[in-house]
Amino acid sequence: MVIEGNKLTVMSNDDPRHSVFRTEGKPAPGELVRVHGFLNTWSDELGIEDFSTPKSTEKWLRAAGLWEGDKTLNNDEHQRILALRDLVRRCVLKQVSPELLTGGVFQISFGMKFEEDCPVLVPETDSASERVIGQLVAIIYNSMIDGTWARFKCCALPTCGWAYYDTTKSRTKRWCSMRTCGSRSKARRYYERHR
Ligand SMILES: [Zn+2]
Repeated sequence: MVIEGNKLTVMSNDDPRHSVFRTEGKPAPGELVRVHGFLNTWSDELGIEDFSTPKSTEKWLRAAGLWEGDKTLNNDEHQRILALRDLVRRCVLKQVSPELLTGGVFQISFGMKFEEDCPVLVPETDSASERVIGQLVAIIYNSMIDGTWARFKCCALPTCGWAYYDTTKSRTKRWCSMRTCGSRSKARRYYERHR
């Protein structure tokens, strides 16, 4: 994955530069890979937590091209980012209705612009953290419209929760493909390889 400004270039998944977005298997298409990477900043099963402090969270957001400028992420903003990550995962797992994302955007208003192939929602806010949330919600919105959202899943093992893109014909895959849900040693090796 290479980020140039706002554009993402998806490269081979073995590319070490993918460490920002831990996709494992096929990355979600287009911009959805940002949500894919955002969710995979956490896995209890793999002992991963990139968002343990405001500082580490900001570092990831910058690397992901979601945070720019001199502003620092404060504690409240950190909590909101954590809440969004939790909410999006619950939506993907169908534990809660995506309607909650409407509340999750914290009354962020959106403008719209036309790009080459599709209209894009643009969060209208001066707050850097709201812009992060707005950008991710806009990606989810587009993914629901273009149909890719139906293939975007999270592993059903509660301690795993790993996000993946389901490429099976039947779209019935329930677990991530690491076969490590339950095998911590293998998971650790995976993490060591990808950190
Ligand atoms: Zn899993």
